[in-house]
Amino acid sequence: MNTEEYLKQEYARAKKNLYTADRKVFGSADDLASWFTNALRHQNFCCHYCKTSIFDINKLIDAGLLKTRSVRGGGKRGPVLEIDKNDDSYIPENCVLSCYYCNNDKSYTATKEDYETYFGNNRHQYFLQLLQQLSANR
Ligand SMILES: [Zn+2]
Repeated sequence: MNTEEYLKQEYARAKKNLYTADRKVFGSADDLASWFTNALRHQNFCCHYCKTSIFDINKLIDAGLLKTRSVRGGGKRGPVLEIDKNDDSYIPENCVLSCYYCNNDKSYTATKEDYETYFGNNRHQYFLQLLQQLSANR
């Protein structure tokens, strides 16, 4: 899948699944989907914290090197970037896209800045190591 196709797919998914009551501040469902795909482009399809591309994360998931988490309704956390709110509320200007692994770990425990500074690069190194393992096994 090329990036334009991926953006189209993510626009549709965001519009359908991500427009929840606490995200009405984004505007309409289309506004939220536009925000999401703009952020994908702006972040170059990478997690804000670990700077790992969602395409690389999916390679690791497909190879069984990363586990996903099943959620209600048959969905899975892991294969897509998530909206990370800050200060416990959705203010679009403060939100970033995060991988599930950073978002889940950060939770409410650190500020965006502290998490990026102290944990983002460590996770990046960890994912790089897994990617090297994957290419060595081919
Ligand atoms: Zn991450």
